[in-house]
Amino acid sequence: MPEPRVAELLELDRRHVWHPYGPMPGQTEPLVVESASGVRLRLADGSGELVDGMSSWWSAIHGYNHPVLNEAATEQLARMSHVMFGGLTHEPAVRLAKKLVDLTPDGLEHVFLADSGSVSVEVAVKMCLQYWRSLGRPAKQRLLTWRGGYHGDTWQPMSVCDPDGGMHELWSGVLPRQVFAEAPPAEYEESYAAHLRDMIARHAHELAAVIVEPVVQGAGGMRFHSPAFLRVLRAACDEHDVLLVLDEIATGFGRTGELFAAGHAGVTPDVMCLGKALTGGYMTMAATLCTPRVAEGISRGEVPVLAHGPTFMGNPLAAAVACASIDLLTCQDWRGEITRIETGLRTGLSEAASIPGVKDVRVLGAIGVVQLDHPVDMRSATRAAVREGVWLRPFRDLVYTMPPYVTGDEDVARIARAVCAAAREG
Ligand SMILES: *Cc1c(COP(=O)(O)O)cnc(C)c1O
Repeated sequence: MPEPRVAELLELDRRHVWHPYGPMPGQTEPLVVESASGVRLRLADGSGELVDGMSSWWSAIHGYNHPVLNEAATEQLARMSHVMFGGLTHEPAVRLAKKLVDLTPDGLEHVFLADSGSVSVEVAVKMCLQYWRSLGRPAKQRLLTWRGGYHGDTWQPMSVCDPDGGMHELWSGVLPRQVFAEAPPAEYEESYAAHLRDMIARHAHELAAVIVEPVVQGAGGMRFHSPAFLRVLRAACDEHDVLLVLDEIATGFGRTGELFAAGHAGVTPDVMCLGKALTGGYMTMAATLCTPRVAEGISRGEVPVLAHGPTFMGNPLAAAVACASIDLLTCQDWRGEITRIETGLRTGLSEAASIPGVKDVRVLGAIGVVQLDHPVDMRSATRAAVREGVWLRPFRDLVYTMPPYVTGDEDVARIARAVCAAAREG
């Protein structure tokens, strides 16, 4: 792209276009991407390509411009890109729902297709509140979560994000007031398990559900915890008549080394949210799955329907690509690929521990995290990564990577070098 055109785009972008968590007008200059292929983003300013260490916020698990996903999209485009879902149905959505039921833990049998992760969490919350209302227990309308979580940016999801230091602190006092347990420790601790049991028991009369991210807390701080805590939650929820929602929007589709993070604990939730990697990063789509118990409960109520129906519900184009992405994932040795990347990240990030200002280095599946003892200087950290030929997007005190599963060993090593460089200069 000629330089004047890039400059014009950037000027228009700054003046008119909101970016995630950004001010208006914009104050930092984004990089203009011209195209993307495999694990590489091609920049429009002619400066070359960057290896993508972010999978476009953890979604592009197969990389960009994948021939199989492209073909699925093109084929579906020739049939129809969209039809409404009220009163109509179609093969891509039905096939996708069946695949999700087959793939997720046993017991989840019903699928609500939503248009983004946040909306799938809204739907999950609505399901849980409506379930108890239908059963004649309308007082059960609060949610319990643990600190350090992130569940999206719309209203209900914001209310269960970490209330301190997170992105939604501004809204405390306006949001629904939920019940917060302490953040889960990395290793199993009986005292913390007791804390969870106690909180659930004490608030059971007003709790519709417990909602957590299993095993990895993503945008709330990239923290890992023992899967055993999920079994503690499952048992306490069963004992006290509380539903369990697992938000697998970040962890689903292999990222943590199991197809779903719930698999680390052998736990089936009552409701599960999926998103991000669902369409291989091609377009927006998310899903809320639930058990027959939840669906039947809702159906027994005074209002026996789930009153939710986004305009683009079940979008055929997204559903067709999601089906292709799931097939692509499950027909390969995905576990082997994740283990390969995990090994590469462990090796590449081992030197990070000795960098001054680094507080912790942790790796799980295809997730590598370097935590600093200070807020990262985004601008210089990003610049350091770009100098290594890698795209990273650090936040708070974290420099991390979640690369596409197709990232080759040399590129994994390069990403790890960039994470170290960003940690050193951020
Ligand atoms: C990203 C994310 C969401 C929100 O999904 P959007 O598609 O951005 O609305 C919710 N929960 C978790 C765990 C996420 O990582």
